[in-house]
Amino acid sequence: MRLIVKPNLAARAVYETCISRVRNKTLKEKFRQISGSIEAADQEYQEKSAEQKWFLIESSNGVGVVDKDDLEKIYTQRMAGQNGPGRAIYDQLKNSAANGICPLCGQQTVSTLDHFLPKSDFPALVVLPLNLIPACSDCNKAKLDKIPDCESKQTLHPYYDNVKNEQWLFAEVTETSPGSIQFYTSYVDAYDEVLNERIKYHFRVFNLGSLYMSNANSTVTEIQFRLSKLHEKGGKSAVKYYLKEEEESRRDNHVNSWNTAAYQAMMNSDWFCDGGFNEFK
Ligand SMILES: [Zn+2]
Repeated sequence: MRLIVKPNLAARAVYETCISRVRNKTLKEKFRQISGSIEAADQEYQEKSAEQKWFLIESSNGVGVVDKDDLEKIYTQRMAGQNGPGRAIYDQLKNSAANGICPLCGQQTVSTLDHFLPKSDFPALVVLPLNLIPACSDCNKAKLDKIPDCESKQTLHPYYDNVKNEQWLFAEVTETSPGSIQFYTSYVDAYDEVLNERIKYHFRVFNLGSLYMSNANSTVTEIQFRLSKLHEKGGKSAVKYYLKEEEESRRDNHVNSWNTAAYQAMMNSDWFCDGGFNEFK
């Protein structure tokens, strides 16, 4: 999970931009009537975000005189829609992730916006910038419309959860033929119980174990040639030395990237460094 700088966009202004081209006068008036409620929902969202307690926000079927279907359409047609008045804001949010990498998995390319609290159950938050996270389509689909029902079943929020300083993502080489690299999360003493549970939950919900495993296994096949040459010349210690340097570089970039964990697992396995790398297909 990667932290992203919070968008600095006023919720009410974003909402009003999105409804600015509604032609049906009755509908436009209804939309206008709830501007204050949209602003209040933003206030509540920020308060709950400060305590990482989004699960306390209540779901609803609509806001005031507007039902949830009409609110959902504000997002799908007027914000995400190619010619919608809110499209520039949509693009701005989508482009906020570094190098276009999805902050939820830290691996795949951003292709959409994910509603942290789903739009079908939280209509007041459909176009709330703080609830909209740039995401890849796999992460967006994996979460579906899951509603957090308790504190520990909340995935990590890239605008609010800073979990980048302590290592919690680890991997282990499975010393078999064919070989494999398996990922897992580990308890961090510096974090409280809830945050540790949420890290585990995030890893599970987004199926990060299988995504990282296929990337790591394929990385081994890419460096097999190099490792073989090193092994021929300097044996297992030459392989280990090379892997350690690669690990340090990845760790300097992101402590919890799959590459950091994968290189760490490779260099820590004597079996791998002593030729086990050839067992990867
Ligand atoms: Zn992703």
